[in-house]
Amino acid sequence: MNCNTYPPNRNIDKLSPKFKEKVQRFLADNPEIFVTEASRSAHRQSCLLRTGASRIARSRHQDGMAIDIAFHGDELYPPVTVWDNSIGKKVVNPQWRKVANSAKDHGMNWGYDLWAHTGFIDATHFEDDGVPLLERSNEDMVEDIDVNNNDKNDEINDAKEVDISLLLTKFQHLEKLLKNTTEAYGRVMDDVRGITNTTE
Ligand SMILES: [Zn+2]
Repeated sequence: MNCNTYPPNRNIDKLSPKFKEKVQRFLADNPEIFVTEASRSAHRQSCLLRTGASRIARSRHQDGMAIDIAFHGDELYPPVTVWDNSIGKKVVNPQWRKVANSAKDHGMNWGYDLWAHTGFIDATHFEDDGVPLLERSNEDMVEDIDVNNNDKNDEINDAKEVDISLLLTKFQHLEKLLKNTTEAYGRVMDDVRGITNTTE
């Protein structure tokens, strides 16, 4: 099983604007790499979760705050760790270390550093070192929504992914409105009957 139905979006223009600026500077400093995936729809994330390619229900790719990379040349993904004879143990491959250090300088965390201790190796992943979306201000979130609105596919996916709890809230609001209207109608009808009664 793969997620070809939901192909990766490589366009960094769909990233959150501030993160996109970081990525541009990061790529300029590391011409040996390129972006294989930038922002991600909820559909693709749940597919990746099902196939085991991702371990989290909500990825920072969905917030436009993460990228995946590969290397130009013969080896898209050089080994992350290599044997160092001088110290007699495995170390992070200098090719990756150089890129990871640069990412840190540009305000990004490396997937390998984030999750290697859990046994999940995600060396191709780099994400914003800022606070996660849920802890960010409304202003930042509005920015992300604007970014998503530029992408017709994302819009369609978003429409399919309408949050049930939001629908429920809207329904409860309508229900309350209907109740208030019915009560108001009842009061008006009481008045009308009152008027009718007095005129009769
Ligand atoms: Zn990633």
